[in-house]
Amino acid sequence: RQEQYHALRAEPAVTRDGASIGLHMNAGLLVDLPLMAEAGAKSIGLFRTELQFMLAPQFPRQEQQYQLYHAVMEAVRDGYVTFRTLDIGGDKILPYMQTFEEENPALGWRAIRIGLDRPALLRLQLRAMLRAGAGRELRIMFPMIASVEEFDASRALVEREIEHLRRHGYTLPSDLKLGAMVEVPALLWQLDELLARVDFLSVGSNDLLQYLFAADRDNKRVSGRYDPLSPPALRALRRISSRANLAGKLLTLCGEIGGKPLEAMALIGLGYRSFSMSPANIGPVKAMVLGLNAAEIESFIGEQLDRRNGEASLRAKLVAFAEAK
Ligand code: PEP
Ligand code: MG
Repeated sequence: RQEQYHALRAEPAVTRDGASIGLHMNAGLLVDLPLMAEAGAKSIGLFRTELQFMLAPQFPRQEQQYQLYHAVMEAVRDGYVTFRTLDIGGDKILPYMQTFEEENPALGWRAIRIGLDRPALLRLQLRAMLRAGAGRELRIMFPMIASVEEFDASRALVEREIEHLRRHGYTLPSDLKLGAMVEVPALLWQLDELLARVDFLSVGSNDLLQYLFAADRDNKRVSGRYDPLSPPALRALRRISSRANLAGKLLTLCGEIGGKPLEAMALIGLGYRSFSMSPANIGPVKAMVLGLNAAEIESFIGEQLDRRNGEASLRAKLVAFAEAK
């Protein structure tokens, strides 16, 4: 098996009927980078910047952040890197940062909420990213965006940093793309406004599903109760892909479900064409893609989702679909 996946490393991920599927890598530390070539990924669809902050004894200085981002950009010569701004709070605590006791940390002061309330912190990070992207394509995305205003405010900070760097004679990225992560269900009801502003969307399905079902993703008692292959989850995910595809905006999914062949198959059926996942999952998902007919899974899942028969999950039917191929 491992060897079979290894042999697929250099093959493009294209379905039997010619749909190209982007399979990118999730990373967060320098030690992840050699795994890219190993897995056959060209781009990083999610770089979790908080890992550097969690390992450091104090806030990494701008220069240290720049060094890391620069090294990542250097390692990814033929593709692009999508840096996510600091996603802390919730259960990701920085011991050196003043925080507050919260009754519901998952619903609390976290991610972009901290960034917008402490803009000095976010601006330093954005500056380090923009410098690392000098002369290159650079993608930056913001975690836990819940409203269009939060995206606008985040973009305004980026623009301020661009101005600053320009004044000081720095080379800027040649192509800067700004995106929002779709993790908060409220975004499902402002997709059109959001899509008019972003360059791309990236679905953080780990958080999106946790909030959609009000079930803590790390609490085993409840996290397994709701199937990502249930009609409500799939309809929510379909809503995002259909709006994004209609608007002609780039869309990636970077949560765990994209790294599971059956789930990824269903997502292709919903119109997703780009995924970012842990390197170990790329081989198995690529093997699935190579055997798949995208048009067939699209019509199959579309038909299933239009039925209103109260079925708890489409998992068994999707397994049968996959096995029949
Ligand atoms: C997600 O929420 O799906 C995601 C990719 O971000 P994280 O797992 O880091 O919260
Ligand atoms: Mg998340």
